[in-house]
Amino acid sequence: MVDGQLFKIMNKQILKIGNWINGQEVFIPQEDWIEKYNPHNGKLLSIFCNSTQEAVDNTVKLAFRSFSSWSSLNPIKRGQFLGAIVAQMKNNLSELTETVALETGKSISDASGEVQGAILQGEYFAGEGMRLFGQSLNSGMDGKTSHTVREPHGVAALIVPANTPIANIAWKVFPALICGNTVILKSSEDAPNTANLFAKLTKKAGLPDGILNVIHGKGEISGAALVANPQINVISFTGSTHVGQLIAVEAASRLARVSLELGGKNPFIVCDDADIERAVHWASLSAFSNAGQRCASGSRIIVFENIYEEFKELFIAKAKSLKLGIHEGSDLGPVINKAQQEKIIEIINQAKLTETLLCGGGIPETKELKNGFYIEPTIFECADSNSLINNIEIFGPVTSISKADDLSQAIEIANKTDYGLTAAIHTKNIDRGLWFAKKVKAGLANINFGTYGSEPHMPFGGFGLSGNGTREPGLEALDVYSELKNISILNRPDLI
Ligand code: NAD
Repeated sequence: MVDGQLFKIMNKQILKIGNWINGQEVFIPQEDWIEKYNPHNGKLLSIFCNSTQEAVDNTVKLAFRSFSSWSSLNPIKRGQFLGAIVAQMKNNLSELTETVALETGKSISDASGEVQGAILQGEYFAGEGMRLFGQSLNSGMDGKTSHTVREPHGVAALIVPANTPIANIAWKVFPALICGNTVILKSSEDAPNTANLFAKLTKKAGLPDGILNVIHGKGEISGAALVANPQINVISFTGSTHVGQLIAVEAASRLARVSLELGGKNPFIVCDDADIERAVHWASLSAFSNAGQRCASGSRIIVFENIYEEFKELFIAKAKSLKLGIHEGSDLGPVINKAQQEKIIEIINQAKLTETLLCGGGIPETKELKNGFYIEPTIFECADSNSLINNIEIFGPVTSISKADDLSQAIEIANKTDYGLTAAIHTKNIDRGLWFAKKVKAGLANINFGTYGSEPHMPFGGFGLSGNGTREPGLEALDVYSELKNISILNRPDLI
């Protein structure tokens, strides 16, 4: 188990997690602890503090004090610190992987893939220290030269969900730091120890105290206190659309920079010329991998009418064949917590009243899985694009399948959504693929694979209810975490 304070509860040792402030774990004197349960078996894993507004405000003051020294370091040196953090992540690979697996209920191989992605993210932004370029500009004024530089905002509030906890942390912390901001990371209530372990690794890497701080607690208390603090100049939030809207309103009152990466209701189109086996494979991964807990999950499968029955049969068979669990070879794990499991089952039960349930829809009853927060891979046949199942983000292993006459109708159905995050099409026809990419309402359009996200150097994000149009990671993340300053000099020939 990860080092930390252990305490005994019902004769079992449970991890007690404090905030990470100024380079050390701090246990705020309080009675208000939050419990974190193992999604695979429902057992208590850890307790962590529910940070009060006072604790949050004190942490912001401290991060503000550390800003001057960190932002004065040149970006190449900051990049070297990032490189050292990456090295620590590699040195502590198995501990990181096990922590992610334990907190999320992922298999070790899925957790390992996620950790590798986080490491790659760190490597990319460590190198960015050497490329934090501005632009050299010409001028209409004789003798004037002009250029732009990037400057940090100050203290960055980074608020993350638990679906891919270490990737979410890397996605925000590395670009925020390379730009010269100090950081307060608000961990997810469902993955406190991943954030705690990451913070400890930054210390081992030699990152000066106070540059990266972690607070734990309930979103509506600790997260809201962070967002409301006037010394927070940039907020990067990944999470639900509802909370994103609350944050946007709060930040607007002082015009703080905000990046919102929110939910999705992502369409996956299968044309009649698609390789059907391949389309089924990617539809299944899009809908059910990570138990559907992906903003980019393929939650609306739209299939050409003339291959509909064939696709449907194969897709149902594929969903029924998926193995639930945490072992090697498992296809999907549980959802993150009991409340989420109950919420999804409620939505399924409501949808059953109006739509046709093709498979799944329940909680597995096997001895191994019944105490965890599992849900069977679930497919609804749902022709009505206005129906509940086609409109609310479920964030679980639930998808819908519907028919389209042709590509125009498929795209029309795909675009009947208030979200705009990712989309995919399966076709052997390049013209269809490119037409779809041009017409679909999404920040990412993928041809012949899944409704998947980005790589460290690629911009990810959406619009509508999916976000406020910012893109992270990639170079575009630098626009979130820095201000551009335009510097101009007017030469004086008389002084030459
Ligand atoms: P959530 O919005 O409930 O919580 C996300 C984070 O926000 C948590 O750390 C939580 O503590 C905090 N929070 C909650 N209320 C807050 C408030 N009032 N003020 C400040 N912080 C607050 O989301 P979740 O259920 O943890 O995650 C699932 C959601 O995240 C889904 O909607 C999913 O689509 C979205 N998501 C989006 C992306 C993306 O890149 N677009 C990636 C992953 C997940």
